[in-house]
Order: sequence, then structure tokens, then C-alpha cells
Amino acid sequence: MRVLYVEDEQFLAEAVKHNLEKDGISVDLANDGKEGLEKALQSIYDCVILDIMLPKLSGTDILKRMREKKVGTPVIMLSALSEVESKISHLNHGADDYLSKPFKTAELVARIKALLRRPNIINITKLKYSNLVLDKSTMSLNGEQLTAKESEIIAEFIQSPEKLINKEYLLAKVWGEEGVGEDNYIESYISRIRKLLKKVKSKAKIITIRNLGYKLTDK
Ligand code: CA
Repeated sequence: MRVLYVEDEQFLAEAVKHNLEKDGISVDLANDGKEGLEKALQSIYDCVILDIMLPKLSGTDILKRMREKKVGTPVIMLSALSEVESKISHLNHGADDYLSKPFKTAELVARIKALLRRPNIINITKLKYSNLVLDKSTMSLNGEQLTAKESEIIAEFIQSPEKLINKEYLLAKVWGEEGVGEDNYIESYISRIRKLLKKVKSKAKIITIRNLGYKLTDK
């Protein structure tokens, strides 16, 4: 589970990140609106938390641009403005929830978890394609034990079979900020996963699309 938190108060941002990570939620931070928008438009997050008053671009503008670009990631807005009208206006613009500052981190964690439990984004435990069955709850592929990252990567492929999966997308989705430019992470994991596919007698294989990325196919 990966969350983007756009916040210009660095101390608060770090504290919230620390607390969310204790609950097993990975957090990428952006400290101005422009950087926040760029990251939000990557569509790799399970949830985006937007402060409203931000340098360069407001949280409200980020939300509008996300929805214009059909990025449907659930959004929680944060603001010191606690007026009812402002809350209603943000919910109308496509925010999923709203929290007034100051807030308790525990409350934010609870709101994020509630959002992620909604049926449309609920984590489906078993993913299937061809003769492959990935069980995300036990992190196993056709009964073979995987590491957390192997499981996340295979999930991306099984969710979009026969489609090009871009290297940068995979890096950002699985490693977040620490993955930027680390193409070798992907290459070494793909080679491990190919061995695993052989081991479980997969009919599908991961093919390389030169200079672009990879595709899972059983054709
Ligand atoms: Ca602010």
C-alpha cells in the first residue's frame, strides 16, 4: 500500500510519514503543489493526501487536475479551513474525505484505511491469469513462496496481462522514490521471476519489449 502525501510543513510531513510507515503504509512526500501534481498523475498510489494551502499550486487545484486527467485515486484533503462550505466544495470536486488541521495521525491512518477498504478499491486476494494463481495474502504463486517485492511485481503483470508494463512505472509502483533510475532493480527481479515462472510450470511468460518494458503473455 503506497500513499502520496503533499504537504509543505516538513515537520508535520515527516511525523505523519513516520506514523503511517509504522502501520505498514509506504509514504512518498511532495512539499509543493507542482511536485505533488506530477506525482499524483503517475497513478501509482492507493491514496493521495492533499494539504490545501501549498506553494506553487493548491491542493484544490491538484485535485481538479487529477480528476480532469481521469486519475481516480482516492483523495483525502487536509486543511486548517474548517468551514462547512469549504468541506462541501471539496467533496463536490471529487475528494473522498476531508480532515481539518490539526488532526491526530491516528485519525488520518483510520481514514486512509477506511478509504482503502471501500469495495471499488478493495484488495482482491487472489489474482489469476492463464494457469497462474497469485495469492497476495500468503504471497505465493501456484503455491510457491515469494518475497514481498516479487509478489507486488507479479501482481502488476497478472492485473494487466498482454499489456506493456513500462519499466519506470514498475520502479515507481514497487520501490517508490528510492527506485528512481535504478533499472537494475527491475532487471534482476524480472530474471528471478522468470525462473519462478518456469519452476511453477507457467504457460505464460514475461517477454522484454526493447527499451520500453515487459509484457506477460501466454500467446
Ligand atoms: Ca500548507
